[in-house]
Amino acid sequence: MYTPSATDSFLVDPDERPWAAYASCRQADPDLFFPAEGVDADAALKICRGCPVQSACLEWALDARIRYGVWGGTTERDRRRLHRRTA
Ligand code: SF4
Repeated sequence: MYTPSATDSFLVDPDERPWAAYASCRQADPDLFFPAEGVDADAALKICRGCPVQSACLEWALDARIRYGVWGGTTERDRRRLHRRTA
């Protein structure tokens, strides 16, 4: 399982994530998407809301079971809930 860190260039693999070329977060601070414990993810979620590839990103994050960070307009907690609903 891929586990990105805040220092990863987390959208740079065009073979694995071709949709990333259109991601709204390409120029954003990755730290927004991997907030520290207790820090809200509102800034990242706001960027996701306007992202043209949100659905593809969320599908990828769910399929890859990405545990950390904001992906596809969801937090880690959101994705855990989605996984439980489909289990
Ligand atoms: S949905 Fe959010 S995390 Fe995914 S590519 Fe778009 S801006 Fe980035």
